[in-house]
Amino acid sequence: MRIVIKVGTSTLTHPTGRMDIRHVETLCKVLSDVKNAGHEIVLVSSGAIGMGVGKLNLRERPADMATKQAAAAVGQCELMYVYDQLFGTYNHTIAQILLTGEDLRDEHRHRNFSNTVERLLDLNVLPVINENDTVSTVEIGVGDNDTLGALVAVSVKADMLIILSDIDGLYTADPRREKSAELIAEVREITPAMRESAGGGGTALSTGGMATKLTAAGICMEAGTDMYILNGAQPLLIYEVLEGKRVGTRFIGRKTP
Ligand code: GLU
Repeated sequence: MRIVIKVGTSTLTHPTGRMDIRHVETLCKVLSDVKNAGHEIVLVSSGAIGMGVGKLNLRERPADMATKQAAAAVGQCELMYVYDQLFGTYNHTIAQILLTGEDLRDEHRHRNFSNTVERLLDLNVLPVINENDTVSTVEIGVGDNDTLGALVAVSVKADMLIILSDIDGLYTADPRREKSAELIAEVREITPAMRESAGGGGTALSTGGMATKLTAAGICMEAGTDMYILNGAQPLLIYEVLEGKRVGTRFIGRKTP
């Protein structure tokens, strides 16, 4: 199977912006093992700005564009260094791909991107993709990595997208506020009620939240690709998805007859 995994800043870093070593190490170990089992993995990883904030000892996520982009440039280096070390431990070679929304909207550049990913996968390399935050602005950007993950999954014709989040999946209401909120195991149709309860989102260091995950799910389902939301604090759940168990929330891709 070809699997795109999207991992968010809230999984990769502590609220301080420093790396969450336990999460990152377990994730790289599981993905290496899944790759050893014969699956193709593409990783869409956030964390550049978050790790840059940590490395530069900034007190919070910068609000101005220039500092944000500087933090991303510093953090992206750190991120790839860590991935290279950890995947290297298991003998896997990684590659960095940085994209903007324009790269995916422009047919020619989009084709170059998918050709490169195909070639990397042929070469048994694990591509690690992020938005090119140092040049991305609102006008040319994708904006968030959940959407980027979905666009990548569709464009590389993945069998599934797995989004690792700081929550177990999609709930009937915000479980942090409402005790009665229940986890939704399977979604065939994104309803207005789901969008409403998703609200805005993100944490101090990341941009996502549930709203962008529903956008990502919409893109995947439309293209016939399954998408899962799993808790990134438990990367071992990826094995359970591959074993066909019901974990997190599964958004079922539309099957065309
Ligand atoms: N590209 C951003 C980063 O690496 C993250 C964007 C997102 O998480 O949606 O920090």
